[in-house]
This record gives sequence, structure tokens and C-alpha cells, in this order.
Amino acid sequence: MGLKTREEYIESLRKMKPEVYMFGERLTNIVDNPRLRAGIEATAATYELASVPECRDLIVTRSPLINEPVNRFTLPPSSIEDLVARVKVNRKLGNWVGTCHQRCTGLDCLSTLSIVTYDIDKKYGTGYNKRFLEFLKNVQKNDLAANAAVTDVKGDRSLGPKEQADPDMYLRVVERRSDGIVVRGAKAHQTGSLSSHEIIALPTRALRKGDEDYAVAFAVPQDAPGLVHVVGRSSLDSRELDGCDVGNTLYSKYCPTVIFNNVFVPWERVFMCGEVEFAVDMVVKFSSFHRQSHGGCKSGKIDCMIGAALTLMDYNGTSKAGHHKQKVIDMIHRAETLYGCCLAASYEGKKEPSGTYFIDTVLANASKIHEGKEMAEAIRLMVDVSGGFVADLPSDRDLEHPEIGPMLKKYLKGVDGVPVENRIKMFRLVEKMAMESADTISDIHGGGSPEAHRVTILRETDIESKKKAARRLAGIKV
Ligand SMILES: Cc1cc2nc3c(=O)[nH]c(=O)nc-3n(C[C@H](O)[C@H](O)[C@H](O)COP(=O)(O)OP(=O)(O)OC[C@H]3O[C@@H](n4cnc5c(N)ncnc54)[C@H](O)[C@@H]3O)c2cc1C
Repeated sequence: MGLKTREEYIESLRKMKPEVYMFGERLTNIVDNPRLRAGIEATAATYELASVPECRDLIVTRSPLINEPVNRFTLPPSSIEDLVARVKVNRKLGNWVGTCHQRCTGLDCLSTLSIVTYDIDKKYGTGYNKRFLEFLKNVQKNDLAANAAVTDVKGDRSLGPKEQADPDMYLRVVERRSDGIVVRGAKAHQTGSLSSHEIIALPTRALRKGDEDYAVAFAVPQDAPGLVHVVGRSSLDSRELDGCDVGNTLYSKYCPTVIFNNVFVPWERVFMCGEVEFAVDMVVKFSSFHRQSHGGCKSGKIDCMIGAALTLMDYNGTSKAGHHKQKVIDMIHRAETLYGCCLAASYEGKKEPSGTYFIDTVLANASKIHEGKEMAEAIRLMVDVSGGFVADLPSDRDLEHPEIGPMLKKYLKGVDGVPVENRIKMFRLVEKMAMESADTISDIHGGGSPEAHRVTILRETDIESKKKAARRLAGIKV
């Protein structure tokens, strides 16, 4: 009980027995699989840094719910300071792991549920909030990591859930029992589902009357019977299995498709069941929190990219080149604009009736639109500064080859005084940060596709006050 160390976290995952498939094979040892372990290590960083003196004050705080120190990734924000801390912690971690640490989505679900379960109870006199708080106490006391099972596979995008040819295209309740519910469906792109102890499912879209079976929110352990994790392919993933040319020698990211094959959920873990009109609140709250999380984390990743570009400038002999300095400035201002937008979303946050603080949705969504475009631009700038070996560097195995290795090391050298091995390692890191599809594609689609951000911005913006300001200046009286 209490805050877990990195080692305790990894051992706690070892005790879980999830059903997992990868490359057509069933895996039994998840924690020691090199591909999955690199992802688990990224989440382990959220535990490790909590015990490092210079990060402890940022990551560890006191929970008013259990009155004990907790990791911030288990704490729904109860002040503006908590909202701001979310961004700062994510930037620190994004910078530390250079990829996705995978623990923010769980916090975004916990924060959402702490608001919406209260609102549902207020309208219907249900007991979801009390159940949720019991669940949250357990998460906080045991320092558990959670994953967000939000994105349904969705079948035909032009059709709603109950209009699909196959009704399981959106996760749904297939049986209601006295002790709980049985759910069926599948959630796609499940970042770090096996690095988490708990899977928290929320609806993925607004729902209407008639969609009651799809209006379901709950939590299950990642090894619940019937839950099947199929690890998705990502570019560069076989290098981790191969143990060669990995680029980021410490961390990585993976995203399984998670199938809910008639999974039983006891009532005490069900946080919404049938209240269709609250599905949209779940989606807007979750996605806005998550878009804010992204901005903190991705500005931290750009920091790593800037560090890699500057180091390669030193190694290549271009550190005095004016256009490279300009490109580094262009990377820095992109990181800071992203960070600033997420901080602003926090400072403009408001208290919800449940007591949880919610961020400013327009600013959070504006930051995500910025991320989708500007991460790509920051990657382009990093690759421009670094050079073509980002694309086609010979393998470490060739460098170790007794005959061609010495020749390669002679010809791959940059400035004198820098070991050729260091230059090669930095090229590999740039390749990983630019081309790890499980991470770079999340810049665009993670937390919803760009159009979802735009729609939210339009819906949440006070359009009328803008029109009024213009009419006043033009001397138009309504
Ligand atoms: C790397 C990565 C990590 C992720 N991690 C998680 C996670 O941990 N948990 C989770 O729940 N989700 C996660 N996601 C999922 C993410 O939220 C979705 O990818 C996103 O919402 C888009 O859904 P989709 O992938 O099904 O694409 P689609 O919904 O098919 O979207 C593709 C395109 O079609 C458009 N489109 C879709 N439907 C319509 C329509 N009806 N009308 C008009 N245009 C439409 C979209 O705007 C978009 O341009 C992750 C995604 C990625 C890429």
C-alpha cells in the first residue's frame, strides 16, 4: 500500500495474467518481453521520478480523499494548482522518456469520472459517484496505473452504434445480471494497456435515446477474463525484439487493440449504465483533459528533439551555421507555444459541482490542433538539422563486423574528438523520435482526430460575445 517504487510497480505487473497476442503468438511473460518491457519502462518512469528528490514535490501530492501522499497520476485535480501541475509533470516525463509515458490517459479518465458520475447522480439519484470514489481510493492507496479504453472500432463511420451491421462495433452491455453486467466490443489503439493495472472504459461519442446499451463506463483489471490484448505493430518494433538499432535505449510505446469478449463487470465497478445524455459529457471532459495532457508531454518531447538536433550540430560541425540556429529557435518556440497553451487551459480552469477542477476546453483543444501541425514541423526541422543518416544508417551489426566495421567507423565520423559511436547513437535517437509510429501518429489522432478538436472549439466558444464586440464598434444597435 502507498506509493510504489519502480521495482514494486514492475513486480505488481508480473503478478497479472492477461491474455496477450503479438505477431500471431500468445505471450505468457509480458514483463520480460523486450518490446513490451520498453513500454512498461516508460510508465515505470512515473514511479521512478516520484522518488527522485528533485522531482518528488512535482509528482507526489496529498490526496484529500485518503489523506495520504499519492502520485499525481491518481489524483483528479481539486485546484488550479493541480491543473497546472498536470502540465508540468507531463512535460517533465515527456522530456525524460522521449516518447509516451502512457500514464496520463488513466488520470484523464479518473478526472472525467469524478465530474460526470456526480452529475449523473444529481439528476437520477444513482450511486455512481460513491462507487467511483471507492474505486479511486483503491487506485490511490495502491498507486495503480490505468489505461483509457475510449476509442471504439466503430465499423461504418457514417452510422451510429445501433445502426451498424454488427452491433458490437461499439462496446455495449449484452447482459444485465443481479451482480453486474457483461460487455462485448473492442477498443482500438490502447496505449499501454499492459503497462496498466486497470482498464477504464468510457463511451467514445455522443449517444441518443435508444443507445442505452452503449452508454456504459466501468473499470476492469487488465487481466479480467475475456479481455484480449492484441499488440499493434509499430514502425521499429522488431528492433526492440532484436535488441539492435533501437535508438531510444530505454523507452518505447505500444498500443494494443483490446477485445472485450463477454467480460463480466461487477456493479461496484460500473460508473454509468444507460444514461445516454451523459455520454457526450464523458467524451468532452475526457478528450479535453487528454488534449491538455498531450501538450505538456509533447512539449517535453520537443525538448528532447531540440537536444538531439543541437548535439548533432556539435557532432557534424554545423553548430555555428546560422540557418541551423534559426531552425532550433523555430523548434523552441513551438514547444513553448504548446506548453503555454496548456498552462493557459489550466489557469482558466473552473470548479465543477463535484469539486473537481476542469480545464478551459477551447484552450485545450487549440493546443491540440497546434500540436497536430507543429509536432510534424518540429520533426521536420530536427531531421533537416540532423542529416540524411536519419534515414539509412548502417546497422550496429555492420559496425561491429570485423571487416567492414572499421571502414564504416572511419567514414561515419563527424568532427574530430567526438567518438563515431556517439554520432551514430544520436542519429538513431533522431530516427526513433521522428519515426516511431505509435508515438508520432498520436500527435495527429491521439485524443481524437483534428476535426474533433475544431468541432469542440466551435461548440465551446462564446460566439455571441465576439459578434457583440464587433457590432458595438461598428455602431450597430440590436
Ligand atoms: C498512437 C495512438 C494512440 C492512441 N491511444 C489511445 C488510447 O490510449 N485510448 C483510446 O481510447 N484511444 C486512443 N487513440 C485513439 C484516437 O483517439 C483515435 O485514433 C481517434 O479518435 C480517431 O479515431 P480512429 O482512429 O478510429 O479514426 P477515424 O475515426 O476513422 O478517423 C479517420 C478520419 O475520418 C474522419 N471521420 C471519422 N468519422 C467521420 C464521420 N462520421 N464523418 C466525417 N468524418 C469522419 C476523422 O475526422 C478523421 O479525419 C490513440 C490513437 C493513436 C493513433
